[in-house]
Amino acid sequence: MEKYTFVTRSSMPSYEEYCKAIRPLWDSRLLTNMGEYHQKLEQELKKYLNVPEVSLTVNGHMALELAIQSFNFPENAEVITTPFTFISTTHAIVRNHLCPVFCDVKETDGTIDETKIEELITEKTVAILPVHVYGHICNVEAIQEIAEKYNLKVIYDAAHAFGESYKGIGVANFGDASAFSFHATKVFNTIEGGAVTARDHRIYEKLYDLKNFGIRGEELVVSVGANAKMNEFAAIMGLCNLKHITEAIDDRKRIYEFYLKEIQEVKGIRIFEIDKNIVQNYAYFPIVVSEKYIMERDELYKQLIQHGIYARKYFFPLTVDQVCFKNKYRNLPLPVAHSLTKKILVLPIFEGMKEDIQKKILRVIRG
Ligand SMILES: *Cc1c(COP(=O)(O)O)cnc(C)c1O
Repeated sequence: MEKYTFVTRSSMPSYEEYCKAIRPLWDSRLLTNMGEYHQKLEQELKKYLNVPEVSLTVNGHMALELAIQSFNFPENAEVITTPFTFISTTHAIVRNHLCPVFCDVKETDGTIDETKIEELITEKTVAILPVHVYGHICNVEAIQEIAEKYNLKVIYDAAHAFGESYKGIGVANFGDASAFSFHATKVFNTIEGGAVTARDHRIYEKLYDLKNFGIRGEELVVSVGANAKMNEFAAIMGLCNLKHITEAIDDRKRIYEFYLKEIQEVKGIRIFEIDKNIVQNYAYFPIVVSEKYIMERDELYKQLIQHGIYARKYFFPLTVDQVCFKNKYRNLPLPVAHSLTKKILVLPIFEGMKEDIQKKILRVIRG
């Protein structure tokens, strides 16, 4: 048995498979600049995500940041979002000179509470930026309705939701844009990487300029842009991993269901409710450690570490409570988010996780 178990472990092709795949790239010396493999991965992802277009990026954060930027919102406009997420979500809003307005989340699944969005809308609101946290797809129908009623854009942080669907519709099709992360720790990885999908073709044109210095020709720069392209080694890693994605997700499902069966019997541990219409990717296994459990969340976290198990308090603290954001924005009550963040713990789950490790984790949890 391994000495330490972390919350996740990167899915990888075999060493031989990756080496074989990079051989032509090695010989060509064309290592980046949206070459053959970048294009190939975009093609494959279009099929997998079931969307007409995909724009690859250097990482998930830049996917989100540039997706927001491509809408050209006026400076200091308000974006309604969730504080129960990875810090990247809030940074992406603030780095675009926009103002985050934090909406509470739902006890049932941790996603933005769509019934509390409308009361936060002001004349400065331009967009809603929800997160499909843990792959729990938000109430996309209600959010779309609100967006249409108030003429707002919807940009999803879909970093956790790669390959999922709701009522048979691929998750990348919801809202005006979605940003995915292909970081090494995510269900599908390109080592570092990300992608944007969007409803309007013109968003892709803006993204192209934003991720490649606005360069349109050897001697022509049409707009101000950054460098946020994916390189060819990363794209090949993606092509290799995508070949095995079904097996990888199936294996996660096995681990997920074993946890589910065993943990349901533990008093005081709550599992989120997943809408039956969601086809999941089993990215995470979050548990809610309630007052009725034999110990507090932080004590369980420490006991797991004593056994070499590194669970994570995703997402604690709330982004709104981080030093860089505290008391800077509209101070709204977030009772559910504040309570959830104190009780949440994400257990290790990854492709190839051994049953003996899972049993050890369950023994610690049972106390
Ligand atoms: C991972 C993640 C990101 C950022 O993606 P990177 O690829 O690490 O830059 C953004 N939002 C959420 C919710 C994430 O989990």
